Order: sequence, then C-alpha cells, then structure tokens
Amino acid sequence: MPAPRLCLKVALPLPLPGLFDYWPDSMENPDIAWIGCRVRVPFGSRELVGWVTAVGAPESAEASIKAVTQRIDNTPVGTDEWLQSLRWTAQYYHAPLGEVVHAATPSVLREGFGLPETCEYQWQLSKNGHTNWPSLRKGSTLRALAEVLEKGPCAESWLQAHWPRWQATLRTLASRDIVERVAGVAFSKTPDSLGPALNTEQQAALSAITERTGFAVHLLEGVTGSGKTEVYIHAIDACLAQHKQALVLVPEIGLTPQLLSRLQARLPVPIHVLHSNLNDTERARAWAAMASGTGRVLLGTRSAVFTPLPEAGLLIVDEEHDGSYKQQDGFHYHARDVAVVRAKALNIPIVLGSATPSLETLHNALAGRYLRHRILQRAGTAQPPTIQISDVRKIRLHHGMGQSLLDGIAACLERGGQALVFKNRRGYAPALLCHDCGYTALCPRCDSALTVHSGQKRLHCHHCGHQKPKPPACPDCGSLALQAQGFGTERLEEGLTAAFPDVPCLRVDGETTRGKNGLAKQLAQLGNNPGILVGTQILAKGHDLPNLQFVGVVGVDEGLYSSDFRAHEKLAQLLIQVSGRAGRSVQAGHVLIQTHHPDHPLLAQLLSGGYPAFAAQALPERAQAELPPYAHLALLKAESVHSDGVRAFLEEAAKILNHALRELGLTVHNSGALPAGMLRRAGRYRWHLVLSSASRADLQRLLSTALPAVYALKSSRKVRWRLDIDPIDFL
Ligand code: ADP
Ligand code: ZN
Ligand code: ZN
Repeated sequence: MPAPRLCLKVALPLPLPGLFDYWPDSMENPDIAWIGCRVRVPFGSRELVGWVTAVGAPESAEASIKAVTQRIDNTPVGTDEWLQSLRWTAQYYHAPLGEVVHAATPSVLREGFGLPETCEYQWQLSKNGHTNWPSLRKGSTLRALAEVLEKGPCAESWLQAHWPRWQATLRTLASRDIVERVAGVAFSKTPDSLGPALNTEQQAALSAITERTGFAVHLLEGVTGSGKTEVYIHAIDACLAQHKQALVLVPEIGLTPQLLSRLQARLPVPIHVLHSNLNDTERARAWAAMASGTGRVLLGTRSAVFTPLPEAGLLIVDEEHDGSYKQQDGFHYHARDVAVVRAKALNIPIVLGSATPSLETLHNALAGRYLRHRILQRAGTAQPPTIQISDVRKIRLHHGMGQSLLDGIAACLERGGQALVFKNRRGYAPALLCHDCGYTALCPRCDSALTVHSGQKRLHCHHCGHQKPKPPACPDCGSLALQAQGFGTERLEEGLTAAFPDVPCLRVDGETTRGKNGLAKQLAQLGNNPGILVGTQILAKGHDLPNLQFVGVVGVDEGLYSSDFRAHEKLAQLLIQVSGRAGRSVQAGHVLIQTHHPDHPLLAQLLSGGYPAFAAQALPERAQAELPPYAHLALLKAESVHSDGVRAFLEEAAKILNHALRELGLTVHNSGALPAGMLRRAGRYRWHLVLSSASRADLQRLLSTALPAVYALKSSRKVRWRLDIDPIDFL
C-alpha cells in the first residue's frame, strides 16, 4: 500500500477545537519547513489566515480536503520555542490553538501581511567616498551632506527629520560611489543616569538571580518601596551584557510610562513597549523587533507574554499578584503562569516581584519550587508608613469621610504634602434610590443597580455599559425624592473640592485616565505640589509619588464580608499596596483606614504583622477548605438569552463529566449546574459549573477526555460557553 499523502495541519482563529487539514499548494508531500508558516485557506464561503502547526496524515476523507489558496511565509514566523509554548498553552487552557495563536500575534500577521522592517538602515561614506568627497563642488548640497557623513554614519530616521530631500541627494552620491547604505546595529548608548548603589538585601537578591544559569523561578518579595525595580534594572543590565533579550511584564498600561522612562534612562538600549493603547503599526513594530532579535528589552502588559524571544535571557513579572494578568474574555489565560512556562521552555530565569505575593506563588516558594528573596527594609532612608484604623460607627460623615480622615488630609497639606483618598468605586454613587417608595434604578439588561455618574446627570451600568439620563422623578411613584446612595470617587472628589478649595484635587479612575499616558500627564501637572488625589485601585499600583504623605482608605467594609474566597487576599493586597504609596521618600507616611468593623481580624492582622501575617494565617485556611493553591479549579461558564437553554446545556455537560469521572476513577468534585452570582448580564442568563481537584493532573485528564463530547452536544451550539482554567472571578 502506498504511504498516505501528507497534509498540512492548520490552526484557524475559530472557537472550534482541533486543527484543520489542507493540502499544500503542490502535489509534493509537505516538509517540516511549512511548520510555523502562515497560509491563506478557504473555509466555508470565507477565506482565513491560518498557521501550519504540523504536517501529517489526513484525519478526514482525502476527497473532502481542500488546498491552501496561498502560502504566505516561506520561513517560519516565530521560533520553535514560541510555537511549542503556544501549543502547551492551548493544551493547558483547553483552548483552540488557532485562538491562542490569534491572541499571540499582532493584527498585521493575522490579516496576512508581513511584519514591518525593524532593522534601522543608515548611510555612511564608502571607501572611495572617504578619500574623494573633498572633490565635490564647494557649496553644493552633495558636499554638505557628505561633510555630515564624514563625521559618522547617519540613521535614516535622523536624515528624515533633519535633511530635506535626503533620498534624492544620497541617490546621486551613491551613483558616484561616495556613500553606501548599511543595516544599522541595535544602537547602544551610555545610560543617562546611574542609579543608587544597591543595599545589602537588594544585592543579595540580585546575585541570587544572576548567579544561576538556566531555568529558575525567583520570587522577589520586597515591601513597597524596597527597591525591587532597582533589582530588575540591574538584572536586565546583566542580561544585556550577555547579549540576551529581556521581557518585563506589568499589570496596567498606566504603569508603563513611569517604568518606561526609568528603564530608558538607565539601560543602554532602546526599550520597546507593547500594550493595548498602541495602534496596530506600533504593536507590530515592537513585536517584530523582538521576534527578529533587533529589540533587546520589551516592556508590556498581559499579551506581551506571547512575544517570540529568539535570544531570551530574562523574564520579569512585576506585581505578580495582580488580577489584571488574568485574561477574562475570549481565550482565558494567566500571563504570569504562561510566563513561568515560557521561562522553563527557554531555560532562563524568571523573576516574580511583589510586596504582596499571591498565595499561589507563596505556596510554590514555601514548597521549595520557587526561590524566595525577601527585602524587608524600604530603600534609602524611607521609613514604613504608620497605619491607623479609624472607627466610624456612629460618627457623622461628610461626603462619606469622617473628621479624622479630613483632619489627616488638612495636616498633610499644611506640611506641603500630597494626600490620597482611595475608594474602589468609580462614579458618583453606586445606586439611585427613591426615598418615598424604595424604587432602585436597575439596569434593564443586568441583575445590577445602575451607578450614578456625571454630577448626578446620568446612570451607567458597570457590567454592560448601558447608559441613560437620570430620570427627573421616580418612575414608580413620581416622587422627586430620588437620592444617590453611597459614594464613588466622583462624589468624594466633590466633597474634597468643597472641603479643600485652595489645592488641586485630581480624580484618577477608569474614566479620567483614558487615552494615551492619561495618568502620567495628570501626575506630571501636579508635580510635587500640595494637592489631593482621589481614585480607585489604579492609584494603588506601583506609582512612585515622592511627596505623598497621607493615604485615606474609604469603603473597605464590602471586601471584609464577601462570598468570594479570594476577597480577603485581594483586600489585604490592596490595603498594603495603597498604603505603600505613602512616604516613599524623605517624609514619613501616614495611612488611615476608615471602617465600621474596626475589630475585624483581617485588619488586626495586617496592622500587627503586615501581609506576611495575613498569608501565614490564610494559607492553612485554604488548605483546610480545600481551595487554591491546595486545589485546582476549572469553571465551565455558559450564557444565553434563553435561561432554559443554558441550564440544559450545563446539566448535560455535568452528566458527561460525571460519567468520565467514574470511568477513569478520578478524584474531581463536580458542582453541577449553578446560577452565576449575577444571573443576568447584558441581557444574557449565566450559569456555571465548577470542577475542583487536589490533583491538577486528574482535572486535566478529565477535561481532555470529556470535552470532545461536550463540544459535540447539540445544546452546546445554542449557548455561548467557555472554559476558565484557574478562574479568579466567579461572579
Ligand atoms: P519598589 O519597586 O520596590 O516599589 P523602587 O525600586 O521603585 O521600589 O524604589 C523606591 C525608591 O527608592 C525609588 O525612588 C528608588 O530610586 C529608591 N531606591 C531604590 N533602591 C535604593 C537604594 N539602594 N538606595 C537609595 N535609594 C534607593
Ligand atoms: Zn418612588
Ligand atoms: Zn447592565
């Protein structure tokens, strides 16, 4: 029997499992050189761009297989490791490989175009030109440009900016063999500034990171302001000295400008950035620079973890505990976890930095899988902030703030300092209530109250984006007694502006910081002048505000009593991070936490022992409750405009899972179909199913075995469903 004809296994950006078979564009059997190349293929009535990820015998009937329309690349786009890590990611998260590749690549590649040129060309005098340029006519443009090049090569970007009609002039010079065009080297410059000398703890951490070769996970656990960023900079420097590339991940776009300027000032190479606020071309350029090896350092948010790094030497995940690393729509993944897997595949060190490590990471460190380096002292002369609990039971509040908080701000401003008021809710007020009949304004599409916004003029839904003007009177009883309930950042801003009319009050939340460098611009305007910042957790993240001396925290009480098993961990991290903004340089910092539950054990713990005390108590509690990091979870989420359909689908899926569980003898707990915390969102009914197991392998095996049958369910096609591995959000 003749050997079967081989086909291409193509990953397509579709929410369907598996790879798709296509013939190559000739009758010859395809070789492995196809792997990693893009192809254009017919799919139904459409044409799609896909990635060849394997070559093999066809799985479908030969007659039904179509040929690719076009081979786009002749050489693979990413590296072997890159494709291998994407395969691992697809497998672990049980996502179609095509969707993973889609998330991992810039849009120019997804649309079938080539990557932009990343090599910077420059012009220099040729050998002949060096001796013969003086023969050019005096006063001519040709001679003037030759004189400039005589001092050294010029990059095309420089010529573009400084020399009108440079192209025509150089063309003439080239035709006379005076100049030549050469590919520029990744330019190196001397750093603009030297940092402070590292202290003993920083030096110990740095040595531990740089001394080892090969894969290792380093947890850099340093209190806020302990100089973790300094350690990163030195580690990157060491990586660059070995001619390797470094990737730095940060949780928020807002954090990139500050860290970017710090890296730019201190490192001898250009820093590339990759985040969602860039346009397609900028993203493609950064991606291409790293993929081609001309880029040496990449600073990016979540999806930058998927950039090819042919000469990788170091990965850094700053604020590793941050929930923003988890992608919550489409293909769900955790960028920190993917980064650890890539570091392993690349056989290089990875640094996870945080003042408040996630319990998952701490658990790995305590179990000896990660190396733990602690920095217990603040860098330089900065002192840890003092933290005080303010009991506001029975106390009259002004715009949600007690007198001690206002006094704290006043004293801080008097000293010429900046004060920060933190509240984890944007908008004016979380709800609108009729005082006469009890009516609450609800979102017509979600099981949720509408938030009052824009100086009480509009109502917004924070879950689906629905907006409408605030009604002039109660729609139920016609009363005019509609009252904003509770406090958001906008309302606090109103109160603070009234109480402190002489200083600027800057609101920093999701609304005010949109647009490029929004936050950076606002902060630059304020400078080190006395003023007040009021905002949401965006402010709690990593910003270095040297003159911030007072932090008031309002509204922690919701987090103290929440059904989410991670609520305390999140609250502890938030409180420590937000407190850590205070007193980062010369002036001592003071933090005041306003609460109706002054005796809550979590607050007492944080006050006496900080985050380590919280973690020491929380880990055994998680173990006892069989929750992560001692158990592994998977969430099957489904939604549809028809409530019955979602429930029916999840009940069928639950049966399939239970059947597979019994067949394979696995120890996995299956919750069965449950309504989600918010049953209706954006007009869709939502149901969940939670799987949990002490064994990650058991959970993975169950999913691999049972998912094909779930995909095959007729009811699965009537709903939107997703699998969320290691979920962090259960709402
Ligand atoms: P982290 O990243 O841990 O929050 P940073 O690296 O931003 O801390 O450092 C906090 C501040 O302390 C910065 O202003 C930094 O320049 C300064 N700093 C860091 N290390 C030292 C040091 N060894 N000596 C003096 N100042 C330092
Ligand atoms: Zn009413
Ligand atoms: Zn809504």
